[in-house]
This record gives sequence, structure tokens and C-alpha cells, in this order.
Amino acid sequence: MTATIISGKELAQTFHEDIAQEVQRLRKNNVQPGLAVILVGEHPASVSYVKAKIKDCEKVGIHSTAIRLGERTTESELLAHIDKLNHDPQIHGILVQLPLPDHISEEKVINAIVPEKDVDGFHPVNVGNMVIGDECFLPCTPHGIVKMIKSTGTDLQGKHVVVVGRSNIVGKPVSLLMLQEHATVTICHSRTQKLTDITKQADVLIVAVGREEFVGKEHVAPGTIVIDVGVNRNHEGRLVGDVRFDELKEIASFITPVPGGVGPMTRTMLLYNTLESAKRHQAVTHTG
Ligand code: NDP
Repeated sequence: MTATIISGKELAQTFHEDIAQEVQRLRKNNVQPGLAVILVGEHPASVSYVKAKIKDCEKVGIHSTAIRLGERTTESELLAHIDKLNHDPQIHGILVQLPLPDHISEEKVINAIVPEKDVDGFHPVNVGNMVIGDECFLPCTPHGIVKMIKSTGTDLQGKHVVVVGRSNIVGKPVSLLMLQEHATVTICHSRTQKLTDITKQADVLIVAVGREEFVGKEHVAPGTIVIDVGVNRNHEGRLVGDVRFDELKEIASFITPVPGGVGPMTRTMLLYNTLESAKRHQAVTHTG
């Protein structure tokens, strides 16, 4: 079997077109969706992620502003920037690029963003609402993964989804979203025993471990849908995922590539959330 590639890049393009149309519609009603991205320091990967996010906004007509702060910015200075953006009516989404320098508490920073503008979906209020299935901003990577699986035409109801990884930004939330799709979910992590026995039972295997080409043919049964979240740089400096793509594309039914898979859809869901935030803002302004 040769797997069908789920191209996040192509799927993102379709979403961009829809988002751009919605943005136009809002602008006609005098609402211009706006996103602020804050970057502290010069971490090369973070610099390129921020640039890409700003470029995405331009593509779909979302107003964006990038605030670049020096490595030595204090926590209180950063919190002051967030406070200003929280009160800025032109800004519907605030994203602080992670990781932050060690002297700044990520938790404090995430909690400082008002939940109504937390388009990353990391604020405890949004996380809590996601758990109970209430209105919230869904975290971008897990949300993008749901869209990618659905793009294959697969009905997740009753399927066995195995998630490898239990981080707060990927493993845990994607497991919850799969549960909300009525899948049967197994979560694996570094203490899991007999990992291959479990992953082999998966109809859908989502891998988010952050270890270069960790999952291979010994882990996967024929016909599995494989979602590779990992982004790692190998010894040649090339970007590779957490799965051995060349090996698994011969076994899986569908597989995501790295790069061009989960990454572009993560960024697209950020645009989606910013648009949603602007729509909610408009609804409140019109009714209140
Ligand atoms: P974390 O490091 O926070 O979590 C990794 C998880 O993998 C942990 O739960 C850990 O278990 C588990 N793990 C580690 N080793 C093993 C093992 N040998 N067997 C089973 N489980 C193991 O990573 P993230 O979730 O933040 O990110 C994962 C990957 O996804 C990274 O490569 C990251 O760069 C990428 N990523 C990509 C995004 C995109 O948009 N494409 C977005 C976010 C992340 P334990 O909890 O026990 O330590």
C-alpha cells in the first residue's frame, strides 16, 4: 500500500481562501480583525515562526502587528505590553511566541492574556472550556489535526486513536478533541510499556514526542492514518518529523509530511481563531 499524503500546505490554502472572504465581509461591517504577536529574544526558529505568522495575516487581510522585544526584557515589561494589547480594540488576538527566556514565567504570561484574545487557546479558561466542550479558542495544533483527519473523509466515531505524547500543547488537547469526535483514545508517553503493541492497534496514530524519526514500521499496522506532529532538525540540518516517513508511506493509508503537514495547518488555525475573535467582538458590540 502507498499512503495518500495529507498536504497541510494545500489544505491550508483552501482555508485561507475562506478566511479571506470572511475577513472581507467583516471589513464591510467596519471590523478589521487584528492579531498582535510578541517575540522576546532572537531565537532563530521563533523569529521565522513569527515572520510566517505575519505573512499569513497579510495573505488573508488580517491586520497584524509584531512586537519584538530584547532578550533582557523583564517579565513586568512584557506583562505591561500584554495589558496594553488586552485593552486595544484594534487587536482581537494576542500571541506570545514560546519559548520565553528563563527569567520570564510562561504561566504568568499566558494567564495575563484575556481569554477573549487568547487565540493560542492556552489560557486556563479556554483549556477548561475545551474540556467541558464549551465555547473557547481551540489550541491551534490539535484543531489543525482534527481538520486534517476530517479532510480524508474518515469518520472518527468509534475509531481507536492512539496519541503518543501528553504535552499540554499537543498530546493532551488533541486526545480530548478526538474524544469529542467520539473516538476511543489511548494516550502514551515516556513511561508507557509495550508501546509498539499499543500503537499497532491504532486506526489513527498521532505522534508528538519531539524525537527525530522515532516511530517506524514496527509501530504501525497496515492502513493506519499517521499524523506526524514532530519538527526536528536532523544531523544534516534537514527538517524531519517524529516518524520515519519513507518507511510509513508504504504502510499507512494516509500520512502527513514534515515539513508541509501539521505546521501550515497550525498557523491557519491561528488565523481562524483571530477571525472568530473578531466576529465575537462584533456580535458583542452590536448587541451590547
Ligand atoms: P514535549 O516535549 O512537551 O512532549 C513530548 C511528549 O513525548 C511527552 O509527553 C513525553 O512523555 C513523550 N515521549 C518522550 N519520549 C517518549 C518515548 N520514548 N516514548 C513515548 N513517549 C515519549 O513536546 P511537544 O508536545 O511540545 O512537541 C512534540 C513535537 O511536536 C516536537 O517536535 C515539537 O517541535 C512539535 N510541534 C510541532 C508543532 C507544529 O505546528 N507542527 C506544534 C507544536 C509542537 P512524558 O510526558 O512522559 O515526558
